[in-house]
Amino acid sequence: MSTSAERAASGRTAPLAVDRVACSAHGVCAQLLTGVTLDEWGYPVVDEARVAAENDADAVARAVRLCPARALYRR
Ligand code: SF4
Repeated sequence: MSTSAERAASGRTAPLAVDRVACSAHGVCAQLLTGVTLDEWGYPVVDEARVAAENDADAVARAVRLCPARALYRR
């Protein structure tokens, strides 16, 4: 796995990140975005490549806006 600095340098900056402390496992993000699945406790697992490739900027912005815990943010 590459660091965020490495991704930025290569132009592959992931569009989405999760504040794992704030996240309360509502699962809304997994319903709105392809490439986000939930682990066995309901917390999101983000496939950065799929999120970037399969969701447009509006979909990512909508998921950020609708996260009930304000735990999603764009990088
Ligand atoms: S919608 Fe927000 S609170 Fe719910 S699982 Fe996703 S990041 Fe966590």
